[in-house]
Amino acid sequence: MAEQNEGIEVSVEELRAKYAAEQLKRLRTDGLKQFSGLKEQFEELDQDPYADPNFTRDAITEETEVVIVGGGFAGMLTGVDLQNQGITNFRIVEKGGDFGGTWYWNRYPGCMCDVESYTYLPLLEETGYMPTERYASAPEIFGYCQLLGRTFNLYEHALFQTIINGAVWDDNSNRWNITTSRGDKISSKYIVIAGGILHKPKVPGIPGIEKFKGRMFHTSRWDYDYTGGGPREFMDNLGDKRVGIIGTGATAIQAVPKLAEAAGDLFVFQRTPSAVGVRNNGKTDEKWFKSLKPGWQQERIVNFTKAVTGEMPEVDLVGDGWTDVMWRNTQAAVESPEHLAEMELSDFKTMEKLRRRVDTIIEDPETAAKLKAYYGKNCKRVCFHDDYLPSFNKPNVHLIDSDGKGIERVTETGVVIDGVEYPIDCLIFASGFEVNTDLDARVGFDPVGRDGVTLNESWSHGAHTLHGVLSGGFPNMMVISLVQAGFGTNFVHFLGRSARHVAELIKLCEDQGIATIEATPEAEEDWLMVLYGAIGNGAEYVTTCTPGYFNNEMSAPDEKAAKGLVYAGSLLNYHAHLDEFRAAGDFPGALVTKG
Ligand code: NDP
Repeated sequence: MAEQNEGIEVSVEELRAKYAAEQLKRLRTDGLKQFSGLKEQFEELDQDPYADPNFTRDAITEETEVVIVGGGFAGMLTGVDLQNQGITNFRIVEKGGDFGGTWYWNRYPGCMCDVESYTYLPLLEETGYMPTERYASAPEIFGYCQLLGRTFNLYEHALFQTIINGAVWDDNSNRWNITTSRGDKISSKYIVIAGGILHKPKVPGIPGIEKFKGRMFHTSRWDYDYTGGGPREFMDNLGDKRVGIIGTGATAIQAVPKLAEAAGDLFVFQRTPSAVGVRNNGKTDEKWFKSLKPGWQQERIVNFTKAVTGEMPEVDLVGDGWTDVMWRNTQAAVESPEHLAEMELSDFKTMEKLRRRVDTIIEDPETAAKLKAYYGKNCKRVCFHDDYLPSFNKPNVHLIDSDGKGIERVTETGVVIDGVEYPIDCLIFASGFEVNTDLDARVGFDPVGRDGVTLNESWSHGAHTLHGVLSGGFPNMMVISLVQAGFGTNFVHFLGRSARHVAELIKLCEDQGIATIEATPEAEEDWLMVLYGAIGNGAEYVTTCTPGYFNNEMSAPDEKAAKGLVYAGSLLNYHAHLDEFRAAGDFPGALVTKG
C-alpha cells in the first residue's frame, strides 16, 4: 500500500500555527505528577478481577538457573528460547492468574490488537495456528498465549498469582536470592526482568475523584459483574445507566463502540482526540494462509517493521493503515533544510488525511471539529477503527470535549467540565498505564545489586545500561523493557528478539564458564551516546507535540528523564547492536568473571 497522500493539499503555515495553539492549550505544570497509580485510595481498583481469590499453594524453596519476572509475551518467549538453548531449569513468576500479560489484564469490551495478527502473534509457524481474523481480538490472543504455554511446556515452570517482593544479589554465591508474596525462597543464577512495560494502570489525579459514589474501574480491570456481558458479549446491565469514560487513546477507541451499543447514555470525556484511520478487519482467508511458504512469518514481521520505520521496502507485504501512515519516517536525522521541509509536509498531509476522514463519517460538524487531531503522527499512537467515529452519530453518545484542559473535577455523582456537571452512574478510566515511572516501581520490587545498592539508588541519576539489557552493579540481571532499549509498532517483534538475545546470552555465558556478567561504566556511557545519536530529529519533533507519554507529558527534562530514553532508530538497527554483541564472542563492553 505505502503512503498515499496524493491530492491532499495543506497550508504549512496554518497547520504550524494550529498545532502550536493546540499544544499551548494542553501545557500544564504538573506533567507526570498529574497521574496517581492505583495506590492508596485506588488500591481497590487494582485487584485482579479474573483470578481465584481463594487460591493457595505451599511456599517453595528451590535453586534454579533463571528466574523470569513476568508471564507476558517477553517472559514466555524467554522461556521458549531458553529451552531452545537447552536450558530447562527456570521459573516464570507472574502476578496474574495465567500467562498473557497485557492480554491477561486487558479484557475490556472490543479489546483487540491494532497490529495485524499474522505479524503480531509470535511463533505462528511453530504452533501451526491460524488466527481467525486479520486483527485478532483480545480473547483470541489470550487463548493463543495459553496455547504457547501448553505447546512449549511453560505451565510447569510458572508460579502464578505470585509477586516477587525481593531480589538480592549475593556476592559470595554469585546468585540472586528471590522472595515472593507466597513465601517462596528461590535462589537463581540469573534474573530476567520481563515485566513492567505497560501493565501498571494510571489514574488521573482529578480533584474530588475519591468522592465519586458510583462504580469506578480502570479498563484493564473491567467489571463485568457491573456491566454485564463479556469481552465478546453485549453488556446487558448498562441499558439504564449513564456511563462516563475518561480518555480517548488507543484503549478507548476500542471500548467506546461497545459502550455506545450498550449504555443508556455514554459520555466520552475528551482531552485530546486520537487520529483514527481505516481498520478494514476481516476473517483470515484460509486458502491464502495455507499457501504461505515456510519462513513467511519472519519475512512478514521484518517487512512490516521496515515499512513502519521509514525503510520503504520494495514490497509492502502487510499493506494496511499502519504501513500507509508510517511509511515515511518524519523524524529522521535532518539531511538538509529541504529534507526537513519534506518530512514536515508529509506528516501534515498524513494527519490531514485522517482529519478529513472524520468529516466523511461524523454528521454534526461541531462534533467532527472536536474529533480532529492536530499534532504530528509520531506524537501519539495513531489508531485504526471502523466503529469508533460512527459511535458519535448515535443519539445516546455524547462527546464532552474539554478543549484540552481535561476534567475539572469529579463530584459524588458526576464529572465536571468547564463548570458543567454531567451526572453519571459509572466512571471508566481509559487513562493508560505508567510508562515513564521508575522501572522498580513498575515491576513492584527494587533489586538489590552489588554492595547492597538498589536499582532505584543506582539509577537515581538516570538509567545506565548496555542495550537496555545489562546494568553495572547488577550481575546476571537482564532486563527487557523500554528503558534504553528498542521499541516497535509491532511490540512483540521487539520483545521476541530481546527474549532471544537474553536466552542466547545466558547460553553463551554457560558455555564459557562465566560466573557473572554486567555492563561496564564505559560501555554504558558509549551506549548512551548511541541512544542520543539515534534520536534523529525526534527531540525537535516532540517539542511540537501535545503532551503525552511519548514526551513525558512535556515535563521539563531532568537528567533522569534524559537517560531513560528508548532507542529511537529503526528496531532492526537495535537488533543489529544486540546481534553484534553476541557474535563478538567475548562480550565487548561487559564485565565478566569466571568461576
Ligand atoms: P493512553 O495513555 O494512550 O491514553 C490515555 C487517555 O486518557 C488519553 O486520551 C489522555 O488524554 C486521557 N486523559 C488522561 N488524563 C486525563 C484527564 N485528566 N482528563 C481527560 N482525559 C485524560 O492510554 P491507553 O490505555 O489508550 O493506551 C495505553 C497503551 O496501550 C498505549 O501505548 C497504547 O498504544 C497501547 N494500546 C495498544 C493497543 C494495541 O492494539 N496495540 C490497544 C490499546 C492500547 P491526553 O491525550 O490529553 O493525555
